[in-house]
Amino acid sequence: MLASTALAQTEDELRELGPHVHGIGNLIVAIEGNEIQMEFVAPGMDIVGFEHEADTTRQKRAVEAALADLKEPLTLFELPPSAGCTVTSAEAELVAEGNETEGHEEAEAEADEDYENHHSEFRANYAFTCVDAAQAQSINFRYFDRFRDAHDLNVTFIDENGEVALAVSRNFRYMER
Ligand SMILES: [Zn+2]
Repeated sequence: MLASTALAQTEDELRELGPHVHGIGNLIVAIEGNEIQMEFVAPGMDIVGFEHEADTTRQKRAVEAALADLKEPLTLFELPPSAGCTVTSAEAELVAEGNETEGHEEAEAEADEDYENHHSEFRANYAFTCVDAAQAQSINFRYFDRFRDAHDLNVTFIDENGEVALAVSRNFRYMER
């Protein structure tokens, strides 16, 4: 199976997952020839520390800064220099989930409850082209330095040999596949 086909299937599985768990993000890494694609999803809580709509200037800036940093994948998911990978595309967005559309007309008293029920996720898509993708055997997750509320990341590697699921965490942030 082509890595890109497997990636699309895994993305569908990701989309079908139930409510996310705060502190746990997901990263899919698909390697095909010298091309690498990554799909990243993490709860807003992990990235900016809240999931309601950004209200204050400070919150809005935090979201903007997070999106800007999520568009620099090699500073978050550091690949070995020997692989010679460069970013060919990097997209990041904040997606709100749940029943937020019902919340607008609620009374002030219900606002706090609404905040708790509202979930949002940061999602990013990356593409890289590498001089030698076979050298991309490890990732140093500087992600945990940048995003202090992120605790774990479930990582799925997909290549022509199949699929490998691994987990990294704040205390164990370097992985070799
Ligand atoms: Zn949430």
